[in-house]
Amino acid sequence: MNTRTLTDTLDFTPAVGDMPLTGKQRALLAQAHALGRDRFAARAAQWDEAAAFPHANYDDLREAGFLRLCVPEAAGGLGADYPTYMMVAAEIGRFCGTTALTWNMHICSTMWTGVLADGIPMTDAERAEHARRRELHFARIVNDGAIYAQPFSEGSAAAAGRAPFGTTAKKVEGGWLINGRKIFASLAGAAHYYGILCTEDVEGKTPDPRDTLYISVPATAQGFSIHGDWNPLGMRGTVSRNLLFKDVFVADDEQLMPRGIYFKGAQTWPAMFFTLSPTYLGLANAAYDFTVKYLRGEVEGEPPVKRRMYPTKQIAVAQMRIQLEAMRSLFTRAIAEARPNPTKDAKMRLYAAHYSVMEGANDICRLAIRTCGGQGMMKHLPLERLYRDSRCGSLMLPWTAELVLDRMGRETLYETGERDE
Ligand SMILES: Cc1cc2nc3c(=O)[nH]c(=O)nc-3n(C[C@H](O)[C@H](O)[C@H](O)COP(=O)(O)OP(=O)(O)OC[C@H]3O[C@@H](n4cnc5c(N)ncnc54)[C@H](O)[C@@H]3O)c2cc1C
Repeated sequence: MNTRTLTDTLDFTPAVGDMPLTGKQRALLAQAHALGRDRFAARAAQWDEAAAFPHANYDDLREAGFLRLCVPEAAGGLGADYPTYMMVAAEIGRFCGTTALTWNMHICSTMWTGVLADGIPMTDAERAEHARRRELHFARIVNDGAIYAQPFSEGSAAAAGRAPFGTTAKKVEGGWLINGRKIFASLAGAAHYYGILCTEDVEGKTPDPRDTLYISVPATAQGFSIHGDWNPLGMRGTVSRNLLFKDVFVADDEQLMPRGIYFKGAQTWPAMFFTLSPTYLGLANAAYDFTVKYLRGEVEGEPPVKRRMYPTKQIAVAQMRIQLEAMRSLFTRAIAEARPNPTKDAKMRLYAAHYSVMEGANDICRLAIRTCGGQGMMKHLPLERLYRDSRCGSLMLPWTAELVLDRMGRETLYETGERDE
């Protein structure tokens, strides 16, 4: 019997685990692994220390074609689908959390307008308008290597999906006039375009989440500015500062989705919010990889002291592996079944996968620090950074750990439309 797995031609186990892969997935994973191992890993400490954006990594991503990973092949991209992106992102996250997380913001601007939008119901006119506009947007990435940010958060319940966005877009001749403020805008100052969510300001109408617009604001637009400092616990290289929009005019063609389609998309394609998780699956792998090396006395530059003979440390490694395998299993199942209008069970698994990865990553880092011991948490080693970076995942809206529990409980006990008397 042939017991070879499809990852046999890779000389490493991918962050998503040993699983069947297509030829394209294998090639992209090998490329991502080499980039991470040879370039990103050694640079990760500097972005963290200075809270500086990883520009050098973005030059490498651009050169590798990874800025256009999810742009359709017909538009000059690499045409990666949802599961392929999620696997590659986890591999990048294994070597630099900041790069993987910010790259996710950029990729979403292509995936949401690309493969995800293809699965959202639109009228023929909307579909035609979208197809024309996204060509312009893809061309900026393919031809000019443009970087997109994805600033949604405002410090209100909007990014949690519980209120309309306070940032507004008013229709004017030839385009939109944007006013408002965003917080936590990863890639602030590094992006060429900011793909914001805002509410259409309709005269005499109460702001409504159904009127959410997804629009790109060029970094050079008049009235656009970046404010505030950025000195957080972890993910320091994301440089997630505040943005201000004061009567910013953007042309109609900056619309990344037709009017009303983002709202439909968020309801149709819940897996669009799962794309934050591969970064953290990558971090969990990094903590596990480091722990194994450290306990075997094989960390480069460290004394070759072995700690593997202590049963307590063997147990901790076993616990980490069990948790990692559970995360990988849920993750790979969720990416394989990601599609528009999932069944209730598939949606529950998706939530469970997100929660397990976001909370589990920090838990694995906690175990790694505890078992590697005092010398293992020194600043010249990556563990303490992984610990801090991994703490940030479950804070991210709309699927914070709290909100996932909230959704799962409610959606389990109430069918759509059900109410108590
Ligand atoms: C490293 C990092 C990078 C980030 N990058 C980006 C980015 O690029 N783009 C972006 O848009 N955001 C980004 N964020 C922001 C993130 O998604 C959240 O918006 C942010 O962490 C929320 O902070 P808060 O203190 O306002 O949180 P919270 O208080 O948890 O939530 C914000 C609001 O949501 C509502 N809310 C929270 N819980 C509930 C609940 N149970 N029921 C109803 N309403 C609730 C409340 O009104 C609350 O004020 C980033 C965050 C981090 C940590």
